[in-house]
Amino acid sequence: MKTVKEKQILVVDDSKFLAQITADTLSRYGYQIEIALTGEEAVEKVCNGVLSPDLILMDIEMGAGIDGAQAARLLQQCGEIPIVFVSAHTEMEVVEKIRSVASYGYVLKGTGENVLVSIVEMALQLYEVNSLANMHQKINENSPTEIYIFYLETLKFLAVNRGARENLGYTMDELSNMTPLDLEYELDLQSLKARFEPLVCGSNVQRLFYSLHRRKDGSQYPVEIRLQLHCFQGKKVCVAFVIDRTDSLALEEELWLLAVTDTLTNVYNRRYFTQKMEEEIERVRRSGSSFSLIMLDIDHFKNVNDMFGHNAGDLVLKNMSAMILNRIRKIDTMARWGGEEFVLLLPETDVNEAVILAEALRRQLSEMEIPGVCKITASFGVVSYSSGDTVDTLVNRADKRMYEAKSAGRNCVR
Ligand code: GH3
Ligand code: MG
Ligand code: MG
Repeated sequence: MKTVKEKQILVVDDSKFLAQITADTLSRYGYQIEIALTGEEAVEKVCNGVLSPDLILMDIEMGAGIDGAQAARLLQQCGEIPIVFVSAHTEMEVVEKIRSVASYGYVLKGTGENVLVSIVEMALQLYEVNSLANMHQKINENSPTEIYIFYLETLKFLAVNRGARENLGYTMDELSNMTPLDLEYELDLQSLKARFEPLVCGSNVQRLFYSLHRRKDGSQYPVEIRLQLHCFQGKKVCVAFVIDRTDSLALEEELWLLAVTDTLTNVYNRRYFTQKMEEEIERVRRSGSSFSLIMLDIDHFKNVNDMFGHNAGDLVLKNMSAMILNRIRKIDTMARWGGEEFVLLLPETDVNEAVILAEALRRQLSEMEIPGVCKITASFGVVSYSSGDTVDTLVNRADKRMYEAKSAGRNCVR
């Protein structure tokens, strides 16, 4: 920020004598003064960058050429400079002229030195505050975070920034008659007020919530909401900083899938399956229902690789996985347990039903045509949950059954 001494004031007056008096006065208070004797001269020097004053003292009535109001209008097109008008007249016509241009004040010619200096000081301060407020306004308006300001008492929106308006599809006019309850359909008045409570009583300065915002077209998007309480013109206002979580949730989902999926076959991996089985054990313990487990291992798979190559082996694993995934229910879970060994978790399925499914899969697999590879078969072990089972005891029993199928000559279900 400039100190008073560094502030430059341009005095525009067609009377060289009066301009000099004003200049002398202000110089004594430390201001740097420039003088222009016509409106045209002021416009030319400022708009061409010859002068860049911090404030302009502009005479309204000037002999020939444009008057002070016209000069001010032209100057304002070149940039933002606070203008204080000076006039010897107080007639309505002059006052109207001044009011037709955005200005920072009006001084009567011949006014005492103290008045002139304090009006200049106030104008400079007001300009500084306005510039700062304008900058903050622009930053908020263009912020990628959605910003909502609403009155705590009426809940009506006072301001909603561009990002929010564009995402929601509402204009500010429409929003000014709305409240956060119109954006969050799940939210009732009581729950909304409960959100502010800790802010009002001062125990929190900010609160975080996750919710859904509903757009004008009815579609919804997941949001992260940070609430703060502020004061505006003596009234409490709530400021909500809102982030649309659509992209981050999609990325989270993508990362989660990467973490739980086997890249070659696209079925779940062993880690996820184990977790899923633990949850299922917990569920049947509470509900008293049951579930089954199928373990299958491709027969003589080593030979497939040896005869047709590793890529052909990979293709077998992929096609077989796709075939099984296509056959099982949505609530079933398939995972690659290791190499050419797969497991299936079948909720609400007793052992007889699981054996029927295993038998169907065995037959379908043995009939499957895979380009460039011979027919393949697999051996299946089927078990059901019994009270007291853990992941390990179940998997061990299924593994044992599967080896019994291998011993019994392969391509069968045990
Ligand atoms: P069995 O009937 O007793 O199960 O015989 P097998 O040959 O299938 O069993 P073995 O354990 O001897 O060999 C398994 C083979 O599976 C060896 C290994 O190279 C192959 N294999 C494991 N993972 C992959 C893979 O991701 N791609 C390919 N192409 N082969 C794999
Ligand atoms: Mg095998
Ligand atoms: Mg094996």
